Amino acid sequence: MKHQLKVLNSLKRQKEVFEPINEGTVGLYVCGPTVYSDVHLGNCRTFVSFDVIYRYLKYLGYKVRYVRNITDVGHLVGDVDSGAEDKISEKARTEQLEPMEVVQRYMNGFHEMMTIFNTEKPDIEPRATGHIVEQIEMVQEILDNGYAYEKNGSVYFNTTKFAEDYPYGELSGRKIDELLAESRDDLKNQDEKNHPSDFAIWMKASPTHLMRWNSPWSVGFPGWHLECSVMSTKYLGKHFDIHGGGNDLKFPHHENEIAQNYGSCKCAPAKYWLHTNMLLMNGKKMSKSVDPETGIANSITPVELFTGDNPNITKGYSPMAIRFFMLQSHYASTLDLSDDALLAAEKGYRKLMEANKSLQKLNHAGKGSAGDLDQEINKLIDLAHEEMSDDFSTPRAIGRLFELSAKVNGLKNGQLKMSDIQATTLALLKETFTDFIYTIFGLKDENEGGDNNGTLDGLMNLIIDMRKTAREEKNWGTSDKIRDALKEAGIQVKDGKDGSEWSLV
Ligand code: AMP
Ligand code: ZN
Repeated sequence: MKHQLKVLNSLKRQKEVFEPINEGTVGLYVCGPTVYSDVHLGNCRTFVSFDVIYRYLKYLGYKVRYVRNITDVGHLVGDVDSGAEDKISEKARTEQLEPMEVVQRYMNGFHEMMTIFNTEKPDIEPRATGHIVEQIEMVQEILDNGYAYEKNGSVYFNTTKFAEDYPYGELSGRKIDELLAESRDDLKNQDEKNHPSDFAIWMKASPTHLMRWNSPWSVGFPGWHLECSVMSTKYLGKHFDIHGGGNDLKFPHHENEIAQNYGSCKCAPAKYWLHTNMLLMNGKKMSKSVDPETGIANSITPVELFTGDNPNITKGYSPMAIRFFMLQSHYASTLDLSDDALLAAEKGYRKLMEANKSLQKLNHAGKGSAGDLDQEINKLIDLAHEEMSDDFSTPRAIGRLFELSAKVNGLKNGQLKMSDIQATTLALLKETFTDFIYTIFGLKDENEGGDNNGTLDGLMNLIIDMRKTAREEKNWGTSDKIRDALKEAGIQVKDGKDGSEWSLV
């Protein structure tokens, strides 16, 4: 029944048989969010994809350590080395908050959203600011190994030297020779760096920079790429099994992570690199700017997707219908969000859940000896597992479950005879549906008591939170819009002096 797991290793650009470094265990590191704004749907796509990968590895029997970081320092707005500001610092300054208030606010929102989408929590969720000491140590190691140099209190990674020893650009497919040759002309613009492709691993803070720590080189802060090199090494070792993230991170983030790991310990961090592809909407990149022809921005937030309050969609969609929609595309393919696709996914999700409900109610009636129907069902079950083992192909596995659903419906409505199926086949079929739907795909029944309340609570906490932010910003239009949309959905919001409360009406 179990099939060999194959994964698309971005490093080799090909599917490979997955063989963990240590038998029976898997170390999985995924680049987490930068918590300076509300989590967007693209982020959710990536984290739901890795949630399924994590779940499936565990389902296969591996003991998995899943590390997903929180970036709370170092990710700059714009060009890393042009004196740009930290994303969190910028938000803190413009909103007159402590940087850690910004971090806490958006980290809470991120966690709520992950709960709404029913993703499992990682085993370790380290924060960059909690690992400054280790980051300083790694900078020192890289300096000691001759792969970095210090200039005026900042430390830069020496990409020219690294490229002599290692195929820099291997992951993103960038031809480093070309890159180095091309960028040489720009040298005059790069005051501190020896070479334009060098990147900062420690930056001296300007006097106004809010997030700053003492180091041997200056009072400053670590470069963005450094945290992931440090935290993956600390929790998974110098060489671990899987490193994941969205493919927008291949360059420079992941490429530079590899450079730093090599620069500090002369070894490549991950054996397999897995990259999710981007979320699009209506076939195009999401963009907040308004199309002059339609007057509509090609953009939607998760909350708008739940409430339906966005001109790109005709109605709101439940978190599980959206999760199902995400699973209908392979993680390494782009995911194109549109109203039609969501409507179809919603139908598909309900169909699958209904089929499962019917299946679990079927009782074995006849004696039944192994026949054609058993063979067909067992074959489809085996194929469902084979699809999942083939680089976590959720869309193809869902396809097999739908083929099995047709059998279930046939058994339910009498087109197929219960006496033609063996008790063991029926039991296996029930187990397969339960395993795939709940354990592997991480779906939930939305229309049944208990679970639904948890989802609704989480969802409402998030919406109330967002409305609170709108009210604090005196954005009365948005605040009223949220209240009215909820009212239409049968939820009443009451504003009191201790905040807002909601109830079903
Ligand atoms: P960020 O918060 O921008 O650092 O991103 C957090 C994670 O979401 C990273 O793994 C990104 O690669 C991923 N990500 C960002 N934008 C998208 C998108 N449009 N589609 C899918 N994944 C994305
Ligand atoms: Zn990272």
